[in-house]
Amino acid sequence: MTTYFVAQWSVPADRLAEHDAALARLLAHTHRHAAIRSLQALRQRWGPLPRHGYLWVEEYDSLDALDRDSRPPACTCDEQWAPIHALAVQGTFRAGVWTNPLDDEAAIEAARPRG
Ligand SMILES: [Zn+2]
Repeated sequence: MTTYFVAQWSVPADRLAEHDAALARLLAHTHRHAAIRSLQALRQRWGPLPRHGYLWVEEYDSLDALDRDSRPPACTCDEQWAPIHALAVQGTFRAGVWTNPLDDEAAIEAARPRG
């Protein structure tokens, strides 16, 4: 089942340039992770996060793929994420693993109109 690593956080306005440089380095680092099927790095235009809000979404084929990808030697991610954590407004960084409830043939089939 397609699995996503999703993180969100906020950055104060006076740290944006520094943050976005760190974000670009993090993005470059992810090219080492062949298991990442797609990646979105988004800045909130408006919404519930304190300004300036960021959302990061990595897509994997499965939870196994995510797990394998998170282990050495694939990963020095902690180092890459450290500047982001340091620049995030305290208490705003949240991360989790998500799945798509409709990414399931059985669920889609069950919902298909009959007749
Ligand atoms: Zn990494």
